[in-house]
Amino acid sequence: MLYFLRSLRRYRDIGKIPEQKEKDGHASARSLFEVILPDGRFFCGEKRMGNRFITVDPDRILGSTDMGPVFSSGLLKTDESRELYVFPGFCDVHVHFREPGFSYKETILSGSLAAAHGGYTDVCTMPNLDPVPDSPEHLKAQQEIIDRDAAVRIHPYGAITVREEGKELSDLEGMSRGVVAFSDDGKGIQSEETMRDAMLRAKALGKIIAAHCEDESLLRGGYIHDGRYAAEHGHRGISSASEFRQIERDLLLAEETECAYHVCHISAKESVEAVRRAKTRGVNVTCETAPHYLVLCEDDLKEDGRFKMNPPLRSAEDREALIEGLTDGTIDMIATDHAPHSEEEKSRGLEKSAFGITGLETAFPVLYSSLVLGGRISLERLITLMTSAPRRRFGITGDPGYTVWDLEKVYRIDPGQFLSKGKSTPFAGMEVRGSCVETVIDGKDIYRR
Ligand SMILES: [Zn+2]
Repeated sequence: MLYFLRSLRRYRDIGKIPEQKEKDGHASARSLFEVILPDGRFFCGEKRMGNRFITVDPDRILGSTDMGPVFSSGLLKTDESRELYVFPGFCDVHVHFREPGFSYKETILSGSLAAAHGGYTDVCTMPNLDPVPDSPEHLKAQQEIIDRDAAVRIHPYGAITVREEGKELSDLEGMSRGVVAFSDDGKGIQSEETMRDAMLRAKALGKIIAAHCEDESLLRGGYIHDGRYAAEHGHRGISSASEFRQIERDLLLAEETECAYHVCHISAKESVEAVRRAKTRGVNVTCETAPHYLVLCEDDLKEDGRFKMNPPLRSAEDREALIEGLTDGTIDMIATDHAPHSEEEKSRGLEKSAFGITGLETAFPVLYSSLVLGGRISLERLITLMTSAPRRRFGITGDPGYTVWDLEKVYRIDPGQFLSKGKSTPFAGMEVRGSCVETVIDGKDIYRR
């Protein structure tokens, strides 16, 4: 703790904590400090606080003056005197932890350790598992592993349709209490009738439908964006229409059914525009995009599976439209779509590799370095997009804990340092600023550098 105090440059000793009975029965007196966090380094919710006093004892943050208690409690130890920032724990509404069914790619344990390393304390897991959580029994199989192994708070999605086959609706009512929302992520729901029924039932349950939008009739075997790079290198492309046409269909259904509707991983400029127009009409819609769509585009593609995900990296123009969407509030939150695979599955080049990249451990440094330091969005906006906005929409309550970041630390992204089993990322080798020092939840260190 003293290292942490020193790193904050200024603190004053304000006395002793009254003698406390320790677990072993011995009494001990510990010093109590007030720490002055330098201007703007402490975030309460999404607000930046200036010159804030926080009261700490050698192991715990007790609260901050005139704010009331901000953190319930927690260990806070660091080992370097750097520019440290304290943020609420991040929240990701779109991750794939692969268990049960595909634990060679990721497990609840490895995924949640990766989340903690990335500064996350809440994550929502997508249901493309085996068994697919499409009934209370199947959901229970996943929940048991979560109860046993999770290091962060995990909120599972329930599948919209049985086995995510897009035909028969799952037992939405039976799963409702145990899931954060419903999604068939990985696949679009092709039938308009099925989506309408799903929305009506989700609406009755007060649950969100989170949609992976992909019209399969427009895919034509594509695997990267149908743009310049695909044309020049002889690849088959995925058109933007396969995404935005289904979003447009769903937005009309959401308007008709008044279901709370959320669009997963928006990647195309037309999708941003469709959501923008729907919001103006008052449709109950939110959407997310992911760091790779905001920072990279088809111009960055290499003949390597680590650049392959679905939806694909699109054009520079699409990327600009997404950043504009973040700025004007059309895009509500940033999710990673953390989708780990084995090394072999990602080693078969652009055409043959599996879709999906690992993302939890690079999201904040990549976004901070590119968008905040690049002058595109403020740090406050980024923190909102990664903390309070997703929690508010998805009804994720409770103390978010906090995460401490060293924003002076410059390094190159090295997948060898990931705690995720998935090492495939288009950001490998990228120089970034910002390293996670510590993540704390319920007073426990879940990650410490
Ligand atoms: Zn998806």
